[in-house]
Amino acid sequence: MRVRLMNDVDMKGKTVVFREDLNVPVKDGRITSDKRIRAAIPSLKYALDRGAAVIVLSHLGRPEEGVFSAEDSLAPVAARLGELLDSPVPLVRDYLDGVDARPGRCVLCENVRFLKGEKKNSPELAAKLAALGDIYVMDAFATAHRAQASTEGAIRAARTACAGLLMAAELDAVTRILHEPARPLLAIIGGSKVSTKLEVLENLSRRVDQLIVGGGIANTFLKAAGFEVGTSLYEPDLLEASARIMADAAARGASIPLPVDVVTSKRLASDSVAEVRAVDAVRPDEMILDIGPKTAADFARRISEAGTVVWNGPVGAFEIDSFGNGTKVVAEAVATTGAYTVVGGGDSIAALEKYGCSDKANYISTAGGAFLEVLEGKTLPAVAALEARADS
Ligand code: ADP
Ligand code: MG
Repeated sequence: MRVRLMNDVDMKGKTVVFREDLNVPVKDGRITSDKRIRAAIPSLKYALDRGAAVIVLSHLGRPEEGVFSAEDSLAPVAARLGELLDSPVPLVRDYLDGVDARPGRCVLCENVRFLKGEKKNSPELAAKLAALGDIYVMDAFATAHRAQASTEGAIRAARTACAGLLMAAELDAVTRILHEPARPLLAIIGGSKVSTKLEVLENLSRRVDQLIVGGGIANTFLKAAGFEVGTSLYEPDLLEASARIMADAAARGASIPLPVDVVTSKRLASDSVAEVRAVDAVRPDEMILDIGPKTAADFARRISEAGTVVWNGPVGAFEIDSFGNGTKVVAEAVATTGAYTVVGGGDSIAALEKYGCSDKANYISTAGGAFLEVLEGKTLPAVAALEARADS
């Protein structure tokens, strides 16, 4: 993967357009987490410090195209951005015919999803967005899997296109897990359903040295391997696919270590008694809600011996403490291993936070769908566009 990075582009005196992901949660006009705004600051400061005039584009929510809605306005984001940059950031509503941008100052354009043609990647719109400045910086990895005017089209239309610092960090993590991993490469894929992660499991099972499955996914694999899983969450339709993934992995010498013990309960509730059972001793009226302590210790050892670890999806119903030990042990092992570690997925990040490990992974991807598509082995449209423009 070869893309031009923003720090290789001379920005002095230039007008630079940034596509950021400032899609923050807003409740009653107030931002409830400004994480995404803070994440964009280093790229914007970099350009401002070099005397560039900065124009920022972002989406927020899912408004109807072509219609302004106050609810999805970036107004609260402009205010917060101004605070974080120590300089007021004006919000412009009509910007397609040009923006009054000044060197060393930052301007925010209203929600790109208000623009007709954004979703369908209209070439006319993409050209107008690109023409707002001299350089187009794609810095919103979380939208890189969508070929839209501001995410893909504008990169192709821009005079110069490059990746921002945030985007570059995500691409670096992707390279280190999928293209040039330090071996052994171990992936932990947990969560509730095989169906939502089938392509991830298929792709990773062809690349990794070990694939640890957890959660409802492990239940489906256990059932496919012939174990009784009682009333556990599992997917009957995916037994065949799970059996095939195990067989394919085994055929290429990769291992998918299944749990040897599990935590079961009659109900998924905090007041329901939790029992540790050998994996072949699950009763018909019980559900598997976590891996057992022997399995957790085994997984922790594998994580400690790996060269690269990718983690997506908790290995148990960790929101309830009696079913959280497996995920806690995995989180701690990811935090302490010498391996290069990448964690992605809303619930996995919540688990890292719950167990006090969030600052201990090498990279935490907040890119959601885009991160999963990377694990599926797909080339993201915006990344492909950046690659195509690497020498422009
Ligand atoms: P992520 O957001 O990290 O990608 P998912 O959304 O795929 O993860 O899955 C997280 C959910 O899976 C959690 O709500 C968790 O409670 C649930 N889960 C994990 N293990 C089990 C299990 N054995 N039975 C039922 N639900 C489970
Ligand atoms: Mg989730």
